[in-house]
Amino acid sequence: PTGSFKARGLAMAVSKAKALGLTKLAIPSAGNAATALSIYAARAGMEAHIFMPQDAPTFNRKTCQLAGAEVTLVDGLITDAGKIVAERKADEGWFDVSTLKEPYRVEGKKTMGLELAEQFNWELPDAIVYPTGGGTGIVGMWKGFEELEAIGWIDGKRPRMISVQAAGCAPIVKAWQEGRTEADPWENAQTTVAGLRVPQAVGDFLILDAIYQSGGAAVAVTDDEIRKEMGTLAAYEGILACPEGAATIAGIR
Ligand SMILES: *Cc1c(COP(=O)(O)O)cnc(C)c1O
Repeated sequence: PTGSFKARGLAMAVSKAKALGLTKLAIPSAGNAATALSIYAARAGMEAHIFMPQDAPTFNRKTCQLAGAEVTLVDGLITDAGKIVAERKADEGWFDVSTLKEPYRVEGKKTMGLELAEQFNWELPDAIVYPTGGGTGIVGMWKGFEELEAIGWIDGKRPRMISVQAAGCAPIVKAWQEGRTEADPWENAQTTVAGLRVPQAVGDFLILDAIYQSGGAAVAVTDDEIRKEMGTLAAYEGILACPEGAATIAGIR
């Protein structure tokens, strides 16, 4: 409903925040999470305080403002926006709904895994190729598969989890290539693909764990390759993908 799958996580996070009596939510976001939070917070009658990089897509800024959120543009990356939220939240009485700093967004994103299982008739595909920023999608799907297996709806066959990142910001790819279980922050992150411009993921170790456990991989692709595959998807499939989505096609090649 808000133009990206971020709606899955934030519909859940905002609903739980509302049930638990919170009134003011804050988020650092590269764009799409900000839009999703703003819309759901408005619906719930709660305040949304948005911190996003000044070069985040204008669609996101405009949709947040349309929904009545308070938007602050930050001269920096999503990690810099995160620092501002962390510094101010106690004084302002905000609850921080940053990726993996509260427990419910991952429960919402988990539904991608549930839906995949259902659509594949409870037999999971061989591989899932996922454009990775903060990584909640991979972590959520993996959690969903674990739970489906625990209740006996799927067997133990899991997809290889394959993470795609932009060459100018690929901390997970670098960590995987080096066989590490945690990722170093990426210096000088540079990509025009907003959702993938995440130099440090809170859940890096969880993403890497799912990749290793599944026999997966992590691959970096350039912005030019991504733009080209946006064209491929449009021309051959009639799919007007965002660059993050198109990155998966570049990753597969
Ligand atoms: C946020 C986002 C991603 C990255 O997802 P994570 O689960 O945070 O890794 C990929 N694509 C789009 C369109 C996004 O908005």
